[in-house]
Amino acid sequence: MNSPLLPTYARADLAFQEGEGAWLTATDGTRYLDFGGGIAVASLGYSHPHLIAALAEQGKKLWHTSNLFRIPEGERLAQRLVDASFADYVFFTNSGAEAMECAIKMARKYQSACGHPEKYRIVTFEGAFHGRTLATVAAGGQQKYLEGFGPKVEGFDQVPFGDHEALKAAIGPETGAILIEPIQGEGGIRPVPPQCLRGLRQLCDEHGLLLIFDEVQTGVGRTGKLFAHEWSGVTPDIMAVAKGIGGGFPLGACLATKEAAKGMTAGTHGTTYGGNPLAMAVGNAVLDVVLAQGFLDKVEKTGLLLKQRLAELRDRRPGIIEEVRGEGLMIGLKLKPNNGEFTAAARAEKLLVIPAGDNVVRLLPPLIIGEAEVSQAIARLDSACAAMEAKETTKDGAKA
Ligand SMILES: *Cc1c(COP(=O)(O)O)cnc(C)c1O
Repeated sequence: MNSPLLPTYARADLAFQEGEGAWLTATDGTRYLDFGGGIAVASLGYSHPHLIAALAEQGKKLWHTSNLFRIPEGERLAQRLVDASFADYVFFTNSGAEAMECAIKMARKYQSACGHPEKYRIVTFEGAFHGRTLATVAAGGQQKYLEGFGPKVEGFDQVPFGDHEALKAAIGPETGAILIEPIQGEGGIRPVPPQCLRGLRQLCDEHGLLLIFDEVQTGVGRTGKLFAHEWSGVTPDIMAVAKGIGGGFPLGACLATKEAAKGMTAGTHGTTYGGNPLAMAVGNAVLDVVLAQGFLDKVEKTGLLLKQRLAELRDRRPGIIEEVRGEGLMIGLKLKPNNGEFTAAARAEKLLVIPAGDNVVRLLPPLIIGEAEVSQAIARLDSACAAMEAKETTKDGAKA
């Protein structure tokens, strides 16, 4: 493929021209069922009439004014997020990484404002993903994303996922916060058990640390609650959100309690685009739908149905699917054959899924799907499994 785009992606040779609901139409007219949702972004699917109307209406009025002035639609969206969560304040960004940058800076600033500037270190977890800026790749700690980009940003201590002793040992006099995804997304849909989130909260309270949740992928209804941490009953001090909150419009947010935000006074942080009127109009429209009576209940129900049907598929195809895990409409299939090859096999069946770490493929469909889409996806996954089985048999034959 000849392209002037910086070749940092291994793109599939496939482009789309339009979408509706959970369906995408390729430039050659072929229709695909999208269970990747543009990586958990298309929360309301494609061409949602309420989002189109909000964008078009705001598009005719005003796109951008900068944060030198008040943005009423932003104050309204922030108030709605505050009313629906643990938070007292919201900072809007254009992406997940920027929401995480705000969270990291805020945690450091908090400790500094408390008279402990030395407590700048943050404990993170192996397999984490927090973005691609210099600080967030350091927080994520994945060697493949750090390699060749100079000295790693200081101040992140990574511990193995689920290793409680290592976690306790990592907390020192310079530790100021713990950062975790309630369900690791890129890491392979690895849920953190609710009792572990409660344990982290306790640990933070004992040591005067801030608890930061990265809900960039898990947030805004993905798991059947507005935020995934609600399943555990504990709340963080700071939380990063993005992906689903814009429904496809680039939008992120960093939410925080008043206490955690106490260092973030005028001039300490900023963004030119973040929270502009166009983004705020779309963000409010997404919340109109997600917060409507019954929406999240339906996501939960559809998620349970999907998980149940996938468990049946795993029983039918034990040579391909090893495990089904996740919450709501954030599901991972841990595979026996290679997850990249499986993704291609699913694509051949006109179903889009997304590979993740730990040899998993992720299912992150639009939250608006129903039984019909679940059945379609299962049938296509079944065909992809059959194709993989045939391929594995050929491989074994070649070996023998
Ligand atoms: C996608 C993601 C990010 C980064 O978001 P960008 O919008 O790509 O910067 C951070 N954290 C998690 C958990 C994510 O899934």
